[in-house]
Amino acid sequence: MAKVVKFGGSSLADAKQFQKVGDIIRADAERRYVVPSAPGKRFSKDTKVTDLLYQCYNLAKEGKDFGDPFREIRSRYNEIIQGLALDYSLDEEFAKIEEELKTNPSPDYTASRGEFLNGHVMAAYLGFTFLDPFEMIFFDENGALDEDRTKKAVAESLSAIPNAVIPGFYGQGTDGRVKTFSRGGSDITGSIIAGAIRAEVYENWTDVSGCLAADPRVVPDPVTIRTITYKELRELSYMGASVLHEDAIFPVRHEGIPINIRNTNAPEEPGTWIVESTAQKTGYTITGIAGKKDFCAVLINKDMMNTEVGFCRKVLQAFEESGISIEHMPSGIDTMTVVVHESEFIDHEQQVVSAVHRLAEPDSIEIESDLALIAVVGRGMKSQRGTAGRIFSALAHAHVNVRMIDQGSSELNIIIGVENRDFEKAIRAIYSIFILTQL
Ligand code: ASP
Repeated sequence: MAKVVKFGGSSLADAKQFQKVGDIIRADAERRYVVPSAPGKRFSKDTKVTDLLYQCYNLAKEGKDFGDPFREIRSRYNEIIQGLALDYSLDEEFAKIEEELKTNPSPDYTASRGEFLNGHVMAAYLGFTFLDPFEMIFFDENGALDEDRTKKAVAESLSAIPNAVIPGFYGQGTDGRVKTFSRGGSDITGSIIAGAIRAEVYENWTDVSGCLAADPRVVPDPVTIRTITYKELRELSYMGASVLHEDAIFPVRHEGIPINIRNTNAPEEPGTWIVESTAQKTGYTITGIAGKKDFCAVLINKDMMNTEVGFCRKVLQAFEESGISIEHMPSGIDTMTVVVHESEFIDHEQQVVSAVHRLAEPDSIEIESDLALIAVVGRGMKSQRGTAGRIFSALAHAHVNVRMIDQGSSELNIIIGVENRDFEKAIRAIYSIFILTQL
């Protein structure tokens, strides 16, 4: 059996972190395939190597001197190599990168070198084989992952290699050049590798002990979620909780492989398990709470709306014409509410209002702004009576006015709209009723 282990930038920021990673890998012989990020921040004001590489590229493309950030990158790697007492040099690699920057600067190639170099150091440190994802992760002509080709190439490359390091974040585009995923994309690489070889588990090592039940900037010291389903995680991430890159779920999810989020600085902790489905109880009625501010609600009123076939379609067409995506759509008998992102909507609002009048002929339209949405997510809610009742009484006690309610038919989440200024208060009230009182 094999485990794929991905380590984030803060887990590889310096030699001390590398040693912790080495100990973790050596503690379990099944941790056979390692996906490193580039060195991240060593302290809060530090700069990630990936950001330094983008600085080099931005200077190089203008024909300016990129010596300062380039030297800084070099010294970051040299410190790691020396700190690990490795007899290893990246001089040749640095000469190649410098040459590329001078003659043919490309943002993706440049940024990808953070992972590339770290992969070499990691392979030398562990005595594992270095495998370049350029040879096995392929994008299609639209820039999306070419799943079939990639899966085959990864499975083939790894089949005869017992232990390997595969840098995260990049692969090969159809033009034969390096192409990166979006920022944080090493999570995706790990998931692709785990999916392609049907690993037992995809361990994603970071600097927190898993997914938290609420944002620690809002709720002090929130509990860690022990087990969460892919669907629950998707709901929470969509509403702002960030643990993994959004696209990192799909490759393992297709194969039913669990993801285990772990803390490099506290490897004894079990972390969070992300699974397809589970009989494990959450311990609480809800799994987590997340939310975002700055939405607008567009209320469209029309008497006898319910009898008019095609009314919703016409309203939605008005939003579509302005390229506005819709977040939620709670409706009443003679009203329909369309919730949208304020930033996307604000420049087009009058265009949308007139389009709704032209297409759907409503009686009136009202726009409300400064709306925050909060998602209360939990697979346990379906089988519990009174969950919604408890949310609303907690909010009423906290003097929070609820402006909108939307419950998906999956009963996996309840979305609540409140005023922006009540956002934090509302999350704390919900957290307190379900998690602090442990009901
Ligand atoms: N190093 C890249 C970034 O900073 C990718 C990653 O760490 O996942 O975004």
